[in-house]
Amino acid sequence: MIQEYFRPATVDEAVALLQDDEKLRKPMGGGTSLSRLGLGQVGVVDLQDTGLDQIENRGQRIMAGAMVRLETLMTHPRVHPEIQRAIRIDVSENIRNMASLGGWLASSDGRSIFTTVLLALDTTLTWAPGDERVRMGNWLPLRGQESPGLFITEAEWWMRPHLAFEYVARSPKDRPILIVAVAQWGSGRTRVALGGTGETSIIAMDGPDASGIDVACRDAYHDAEDPWAKALYRREVAPKLALRCLDRIDAIIESEA
Ligand SMILES: Cc1cc2nc3c(=O)[nH]c(=O)nc-3n(C[C@H](O)[C@H](O)[C@H](O)COP(=O)(O)OP(=O)(O)OC[C@H]3O[C@@H](n4cnc5c(N)ncnc54)[C@H](O)[C@@H]3O)c2cc1C
Repeated sequence: MIQEYFRPATVDEAVALLQDDEKLRKPMGGGTSLSRLGLGQVGVVDLQDTGLDQIENRGQRIMAGAMVRLETLMTHPRVHPEIQRAIRIDVSENIRNMASLGGWLASSDGRSIFTTVLLALDTTLTWAPGDERVRMGNWLPLRGQESPGLFITEAEWWMRPHLAFEYVARSPKDRPILIVAVAQWGSGRTRVALGGTGETSIIAMDGPDASGIDVACRDAYHDAEDPWAKALYRREVAPKLALRCLDRIDAIIESEA
């Protein structure tokens, strides 16, 4: 049950509230998940007035504050169409209007296409206090055990890479059982993230080019079994989806030439 509610006007005030060791308090984004969790007596620190709702270009990267709503990302002209497609598949309009980027990253599971795509793009997260920057790929496997700070203030990802994802779900409205997202930089660097099972998405490959992408996917999901799909299915289909992503990226590159 939510026992205390705070709405600080700055990041510093939010930090001070969350640093109070005598109280169990949690940062709150849109509250879509937090309000449903049975957390016992908890206080929430609502981040909506802290100014973390900006989106800006930073050289070749785009920065989105932790309180940017998913609906805003989905309609922003600088956000890659594949990211917007991922959000549209993952989340209904009602939840998109409330859920925040920070809350989504902190609580989405391995079956989120949006999170898998941001992982493929080598997204960096900044945490308060101290503005510590952490690559999402280093943080996600430890999420829930270690935290680089009290809350995420912003996420930053590359705008230039070509990006494609493919997924399988048992029905059009069902959540994915397999997700493959591929980001490819102009240098050839190719980064592949997999999702569709488990607590978080994972990185299957980050190489100087796309060679071995199929083998990397097969190996990464060799044992990826759960009640929704056999490991045999995931390790056979993930390489095919990865190659399909590459075909789509090649077609885009050709059309740009
Ligand atoms: C109807 C519905 C459908 C959903 N569908 C999916 C789905 O398809 N895939 C999926 O993965 N998830 C799904 N979820 C869960 C989803 O991840 C969360 O509901 C939502 O993204 C949380 O965003 P929020 O801003 O509302 O976070 P909140 O509910 O405010 O917070 C969620 C958690 O994140 C923490 N948090 C919030 N902001 C920050 C921050 N800036 N830094 C660090 N921690 C923070 C909170 O303390 C809390 O532990 C669904 C939830 C609902 C209610």
